[in-house]
Amino acid sequence: MTHTPIPFVDLGRQYRAIRDEVHAAIDEVLSRTAFIRGFAADAFQNDFARYLGAKRVVGCNSGTDALWLAVKALGIGPGDEVLIPANTFFATPEAVAQAGATPVFVDCDAATFLIDLADAEKRITPRTKAIIPVHLYGQPCDMDAVQALCSRHRLVCIDDAAQAHGAEWKGHRIGSSACGAAITAFSFYPGKNLGAYGDAGAISTDRDDLADAILTLADHGQARKYEHAVIGWNSRLDGLQAAVLGVKLRHLDAWTDGRRRAAAQYGELLHGVAGLVLPSEAPHAKHVWHLYVVQVQGNGGAAAVSDRLRERGVQSGFHYPVPCHKQPAFAHLPTPPCPVAERQAATLLSLPMFGEITADEVSAVCEALKASV
Ligand SMILES: *Cc1c(COP(=O)(O)O)cnc(C)c1O
Repeated sequence: MTHTPIPFVDLGRQYRAIRDEVHAAIDEVLSRTAFIRGFAADAFQNDFARYLGAKRVVGCNSGTDALWLAVKALGIGPGDEVLIPANTFFATPEAVAQAGATPVFVDCDAATFLIDLADAEKRITPRTKAIIPVHLYGQPCDMDAVQALCSRHRLVCIDDAAQAHGAEWKGHRIGSSACGAAITAFSFYPGKNLGAYGDAGAISTDRDDLADAILTLADHGQARKYEHAVIGWNSRLDGLQAAVLGVKLRHLDAWTDGRRRAAAQYGELLHGVAGLVLPSEAPHAKHVWHLYVVQVQGNGGAAAVSDRLRERGVQSGFHYPVPCHKQPAFAHLPTPPCPVAERQAATLLSLPMFGEITADEVSAVCEALKASV
């Protein structure tokens, strides 16, 4: 049998579709030599703020930096604890630890894989200052429940929306004023739903004091040139990346529609397949399907099924095979068990997902998967 390989993600198709627009935008940055921040960054920040429904957006070097800047700007540091889901990308707790605070890992919900807020409440101590709900795979967390938890315990909410550009809770985009986080962090890593052509990130917030503090922190602590009020860092948005992002933002909703169509098709074709648990969209949520993650029960788990898919020409991924509290870097933290995250980790298998994936490709992935579980 011969198979046309099906990639996990194909950024080339998207590039070819927007090539002329991207080249024109890049050429303008080069012509005006606006390489660091500058007009393209200003324009993108305004456009993205309007898209989200947020008062301010500040660009930076990466999603990891966006999280770190958020934690620093809120004055969270040594001695403070921050609640973080055990199942997330390593950057979430890494940014918190780099700011000097202590990540406290929380188990995840068995159905949504998102942070389990009942478990989070049990792990609150007098040192707990913040919670970072991660809108994992593109599925928004229950922001009403997050806000209720924050007001009960006087916690500040920092969203990790690195996988959730355009995701909505009750009709409001994650990162908007209505969703209630103090600061939302976005990544524009190339493979994200809104991706640059290199590293880039941003925060959104409704508070001018926080936006201004982050602008300063991300530029060596300078509020004015040569006047370094605080010890900051260098994490400014590149003009070229901002220009690419400005072009891509205009297409984001169409690409999200493509992802949602593919997810719906996976749901139909894989419904009832023995040994598979499918992801679903939670009530009140608009899922943007950064990843389509199934649970593989038995038959060697996700790793074995991924091998069999590869033999059939289908790429897949694992998000994430090791919960953060089981990473060597966090072995020193006294984390009580997170049974759901620990049990699920080896079952999580991510299927090909991107805005341009075709219906034929989704069907072929499903056929290969049915033969592999
Ligand atoms: C990608 C990602 C990050 C980090 O973003 P970078 O831009 O790669 O630094 C943080 N959190 C989550 C959940 C991510 O998926």
